[in-house]
Amino acid sequence: MIAASDAIFTDLSRVGGYLAVMPRSVSPNLAIGSTNLHSQTVVEHTDRPGTDHGQYVYMLRCDSPTGCQGLKPSYGANGTNFHERLCPRCQGGGQGI
Ligand SMILES: [Zn+2]
Repeated sequence: MIAASDAIFTDLSRVGGYLAVMPRSVSPNLAIGSTNLHSQTVVEHTDRPGTDHGQYVYMLRCDSPTGCQGLKPSYGANGTNFHERLCPRCQGGGQGI
């Protein structure tokens, strides 16, 4: 049996590799593991350009207890609106990038 916590651990391990090879300044609000008011959690910083000027894509996981519960694949989002980001699957948020 694979528990949800195992999947989370795997994700964070992968993130560690990214951060090690590509250090860059990141807003504390966007640190790995940060969660916004809508239960969207930052799980990965990518080097993929976002759709806002000068932005990178951040991978987010929906931990909504009444929705995805951290069980769905992560999706990409700009860092600029992370604080108000809604899940594209269960909260009617915009599509991932
Ligand atoms: Zn969701």
